[in-house]
Amino acid sequence: MRIGRAAGVTDTGRRRLRNEDAFICEPPLFAVADGMGGARAGEVAARLAAAALEEAGTQTRGEPGVTAMIVEANRRIWERALADPATAGMGTTVTAALVDTDSGTVAIGHVGDSRAYLLRDGALEQLTTDHSLVAELVSSGVLTPEEAERHPQRSAITRALGTEPTVEVEVLTIAGQPGDLFLLCSDGLPTMLSDGEVADALEAAERDPATAGEALVVAANARGGEDNITVVLFELAEGKAPAVEPTPAERPPPGPELAPDSGLEAEMVEPEASQASLSRHGAGPGGRAAALAFIVAALVIGALVLYWGITR
Ligand code: MN
Repeated sequence: MRIGRAAGVTDTGRRRLRNEDAFICEPPLFAVADGMGGARAGEVAARLAAAALEEAGTQTRGEPGVTAMIVEANRRIWERALADPATAGMGTTVTAALVDTDSGTVAIGHVGDSRAYLLRDGALEQLTTDHSLVAELVSSGVLTPEEAERHPQRSAITRALGTEPTVEVEVLTIAGQPGDLFLLCSDGLPTMLSDGEVADALEAAERDPATAGEALVVAANARGGEDNITVVLFELAEGKAPAVEPTPAERPPPGPELAPDSGLEAEMVEPEASQASLSRHGAGPGGRAAALAFIVAALVIGALVLYWGITR
């Protein structure tokens, strides 16, 4: 498994003066944060969260890794708010996805109402459950999902990052499949577009993350763009396999040159370099073919020389 194309886009929308969303699109880490608070505190909280995640990003794995980075982000925002009265009470949502290409899994952690979706085999599935008032009212049967969408309190969240000294992170793990397209977004997307409209936009963009991201922002703004809109998309792809499987007798000894077949480094190798390394596996059969061609050519030339000598 490897991470394929990825893209992130954020937009202020058409009603807000500032963009208090932040995002990370740095494989294998992807995240969206939607800040809140007076003055510019929301921006501060979202950026602190993104910075904390970014720092932790490459050293962690799986659900414990994604939980630890979000807990650390919470600590930093909380302490900053204590130290700086202008930012008191600031907070942010966060939804982070950490891909482990070795195990082919995607660990997702979230706090608040920024969401993760998965488009697989043409169906769009919401992976996260909002930590929001209306989501709780829907799960307890007080509201229907349709009523929740129009509810005046629909943006009220019940869990945030940075507003308390500790935070409870909800985590889940998805076993990835080649072709999976993951979407992380702030609430500015789903409040403007239905899941069906999001799915249609992804398919219309031929599942290209950059094209789809731009299209979703345009569509949300066309509906009114009532909030900041942030979208991060990434796809999983088949790992590179050798074109010719080496026979056991010809298998080269293990060494650093085999790195492109396994490990995280493999994903960072340029296609050309990877091909060059992989062709080494094919050197056995390829070498045999070249030797055979040489022998055939030598025999033909020998026969021609002989024929030339006889006919003279
Ligand atoms: Mn928002």
